[in-house]
Amino acid sequence: MLIFDAHLDLAWNAVEWNRNLEWPVARIREFENQFPGIVPGDCTVSFPELQAGNIGVVIATLLPRLHRKDKALTFYQGRESSYAAAQGQLAYYRALEQKGVLRSLPDSASLQSHVKDWQEALVDPNRQRPPIGYILSMEGAPPILEPTQVGHWYDEGLRIVGPAHYGPNEYCHGTGSEGPLTPDGRELLKEMDKAGMLLDATHLADESFWEALEIYQGPVLASHHNCRALVPGDRQLADDQIQALIKRGSVIGAAFDNWMLIPGWKKKQSDPSLVSLKHVVDHIDHVCQLAGNARHSGIGTDLDGGFGKEQSPGDMDTIAGLGRVAEILSERGYSDEDVERIMWKNFVEFFLKAWGG
Ligand SMILES: [Zn+2]
Repeated sequence: MLIFDAHLDLAWNAVEWNRNLEWPVARIREFENQFPGIVPGDCTVSFPELQAGNIGVVIATLLPRLHRKDKALTFYQGRESSYAAAQGQLAYYRALEQKGVLRSLPDSASLQSHVKDWQEALVDPNRQRPPIGYILSMEGAPPILEPTQVGHWYDEGLRIVGPAHYGPNEYCHGTGSEGPLTPDGRELLKEMDKAGMLLDATHLADESFWEALEIYQGPVLASHHNCRALVPGDRQLADDQIQALIKRGSVIGAAFDNWMLIPGWKKKQSDPSLVSLKHVVDHIDHVCQLAGNARHSGIGTDLDGGFGKEQSPGDMDTIAGLGRVAEILSERGYSDEDVERIMWKNFVEFFLKAWGG
């Protein structure tokens, strides 16, 4: 079955962590084992693994973050540095497109033909797998130097903006902080509406979240976001937020980061085997129960989001094992049609609807 992963930080891994994502995961791990404690855990995502796992469509981010020992240094101190970092990551995606490894999906026509291409390849064992298709997103909006620059980014292929990441920024409050949008943040959302730029609600602090939903009129998704009813904390969506997103026709991608999957799991301390893909399905199921159907849930693993195997469900070695989620959904009584919806179709239909296809 085709799989859609709504959140990977591929270019950030390649450019900031210096990972060659064309290598199989085993080779990346072997290389990085020479430098213990420097890289973010045991790598689980690379292009060969995406291909092997039938993960044919992803949302790939521009993520303006650095990796430095001191947390304060992980954020760019100047907007222009942040802009340049995002442009550099964009150049990485473009170079891999030229090489035929990636395929950009900026509109309905390209998404539709890409999905068809993968579907045909999956039923024909003699056919080579198509490239990995990607929809370009930005996680944390500081690289947008001013609200009116949204159009420029749209012209460069950007289709989704998640204004927030960790902490406050020039536009809003994000995870771990509390507060509203800034005046520029309100303008940003209006410019996004004008440009047809989609809103990713993930990482918005509660007050910023509610304000954003009021101002922004276009389609909203939550690319990598679990449920606060199962795991307390501001990184997760409360039930009323999930209900509001469902009303807006959103799809919510379940994230595979252990501390967002079970309560009390601690980074660098807890045993990864305490968490399994069944916990991911618990979050998917919670969204489906609130919706009363399986039309608003998807997958947004975040498996390369600054952590590795040590912080991922223990019954999964690399992202190639994602298909197991479909089996667990079937075991829980989800119909074949609903399993397909969650694994890829909901997100594909969300974009076709948003883009008029
Ligand atoms: Zn994130």
